[in-house]
Formats: sequence, structure tokens, C-alpha cells
Amino acid sequence: MTNAPAQIPITRPLLGEEEAAAAREVLLSGWVTQGAQVAAFEQEFAAYVDARHACAVSNCTAALQLALLAVGVRQGDEVVTVSHTFIATAHAIRHCGARPVFVDVDPATYNMDPGQLESSITPKTRAIVPVHQMGLACDMDAICEVAERHNLPVVEDAACAVGSLVRKGGAWQRIGRPQGTVACFSFHPRKVITTGEGGMIVTRDAALDRACRLLRNQGMSVAAEVRHAAKMLVFEEYSLAGFNCRMTDLQAAIGRVQLRRLAGLLSARIDLAASYDRALRDIPGLRSPTVPEYARPNFQSYPLRVTPEYPLKRDQLMQALLEDGISTRRGIMNVHQEPAYADLPAQHLPHSEAARDSVILLPLYPGLTSGDMKRIIERLHAPHERKNA
Ligand SMILES: *Cc1c(COP(=O)(O)O)cnc(C)c1O
Repeated sequence: MTNAPAQIPITRPLLGEEEAAAAREVLLSGWVTQGAQVAAFEQEFAAYVDARHACAVSNCTAALQLALLAVGVRQGDEVVTVSHTFIATAHAIRHCGARPVFVDVDPATYNMDPGQLESSITPKTRAIVPVHQMGLACDMDAICEVAERHNLPVVEDAACAVGSLVRKGGAWQRIGRPQGTVACFSFHPRKVITTGEGGMIVTRDAALDRACRLLRNQGMSVAAEVRHAAKMLVFEEYSLAGFNCRMTDLQAAIGRVQLRRLAGLLSARIDLAASYDRALRDIPGLRSPTVPEYARPNFQSYPLRVTPEYPLKRDQLMQALLEDGISTRRGIMNVHQEPAYADLPAQHLPHSEAARDSVILLPLYPGLTSGDMKRIIERLHAPHERKNA
């Protein structure tokens, strides 16, 4: 092939000189781990989502595990969540010694079907983990109503949902306010803003925030930066066996710049998704994502359902696009179909299984040009025609 057009990736983080300058400043300051930048990032993130407390950690998997421990999940407990999620959701539950119990998803939204939640709750259930998949909010009115009736904490897996909105109790709110008890975010490069790796735990409960802060830093009563700044001698104390899940000041400095960019990143994503919606509406056999009336997503991903009406099967379409230089991903995985969870009682989750096998995720990121988009749409319209065949 000659003059092949450039490969279109599934995503590309938007990082520039400002992030580089922020990281450089931290690097040359002499203080690189959790310190003033982390504290400032926490305050700014809490203000953005309108949460009382935010605790920065090393990644969202750690955020989920710490949040679950903080709400009291222990060995032998059950945690109700979805199988149709990135495997980290289940790993975090398992690393608390608990067992994930899976609810099927709503086939239109790919999120937890609240109608199936209650029947999954047993006397062993200690928490509910709804996942705002691909940045689309779950039906939090319905989920929180069940949780409140059973007096269970709701730990939101908001890994993909920074900047997404949900209508709860009639009012629009940012995910992370939080609508549940605590919400966990990711700053992995596949998400909407990035610090390389990173996570954030937000809550309105001061005691939970304190518990997460202890857990992320070895159970140490006085953080290193506090001792460093103290004018009087202070000795730390260790009240529990915590972890090292600290974020570095290098990451936090980058995160603060990313947070300032977020409004622009979101409007770019929402515009691109709208362009896909318009262009794909009249291709028989392809179904654009459904946005329910209680959600305004950030379009962390753009899931396209390939139905039997389409001339190619899902995997054939992915292969055809790949040969044309267009990267896609299959739909979200299912934890219950992975060998790591083969010890759980066998479960058939029809909507989760169908979604994994019939959805493709299209490239969507703020640097995607209108030329790129045109190329993708043309290929979806005429999947059999090969330019270079
Ligand atoms: C990415 C992701 C995670 C894990 O986030 P990390 O920051 O990579 O640990 C957890 N849950 C969901 C739904 C995700 O998409």
C-alpha cells in the first residue's frame, strides 16, 4: 500500500505545553510525591463536581477498593454490581475479600438494570456498585431508592464519567456530587482527562473521607508533607494496616491543567458524538447509543450496536475498519465470562453477553478531525468497498 492514510486511533489524550510546564515546575521544586499539588487538585476537583471531599489516589481500581473498605466491605460479604464493566470493578471487590454479584444491564443503556437490583440483594450484601459505563449515568433515582430501602451504601464506579450529568431528584448534577455514598474516578489516558495513571474518591461524608486518606497512606496519622512543614516536632501513628495508593504531585499538577481544559474537551466530545448520531441514523443495521432522559453523557466512548440487518458481522466490520486504518474496540467485556471469575456460580446474563458481542466502540477524541470522521462514516456506509483492494 502506498500513501495509506494515517491510522485513526480509538482515542488520544490531549496533553500539551501547559501540562509539560506544570510537570516541569514540580520536578524542579524538589517535592514530587503527594504534597501541595495533590491537595490543590483535590480541592479543585471537589469544587468541580460539587462534592464536599475529594481524596486523590494512584488509580481508580485503588479508589474503588479503598472506598469499599471504607464503607465496611469485608471478607465473605457480597457486593452487587454489573458484569458488563471493565474487570477492575470486580477485582476491587475481590481484593476486599468480598464476592461480586452481577446484575444484568439494560440493553439500551448498557448500565445496571435497576429492576433486577433488588432480587440480587441478600443478607450478605454490604454495598452496591453501579457503573456509569462509558460516561453514561446510571438511573440513580431508582438505584438509590433500592439502596436506601435496604440501608446499603452506594459506591459509584465513575471511572469514565468525569463531566457527565445525571438528573437526580429532579435536578441536574455532575456525577461525583456524589449521588450515592461515594464515587470513584479514573485519570487513565483512555478516560476523558488524564494524569497518566490516577484516581479520585469523592464523598460528602467526612468520616469516609478520613478513612480513605488513612487507607491510601499506610494508615499513617500525619502525612509526610504535614510533618515536613511542621514547626513543632510531630510523630506519626499507624492505626490500621493501610496501603500505598498515593498520587504524586507530578500527576496532580498535570491533572489540574487537564481539569481546566475539561469544558473544552467535553464540548468537543459531545459535538463529535452528535455528528456520529446524524451520520449513522440512516445506515440500516447500525444503532447509535441511547441517551435516557435522566443522563447527559460525556461520550468517553461511542458504542455502536451492529444488528443482523447490517451486511457484516461485528468482528468482520472491526477487521474491515482495521484494514482501512481505523481502530475500533469491541463492546465492554463481561467479568462473568473471564477465567479469573470461573469460580463464581455460573450465570447467564443475556443482555450483557449480547452487548459484548454486538457492539463496537468508534474512535472519539477531541483531536479527531472532520476528515477522519468522514473516512469512518464512509467505511461504515460501504463496508465491502476496499479502497486499495
Ligand atoms: C478504567 C476503569 C476502571 C479502572 O480505572 P484505573 O484508573 O485504570 O484503575 C474501573 N472501572 C471502569 C468502569 C473503568 O472503565
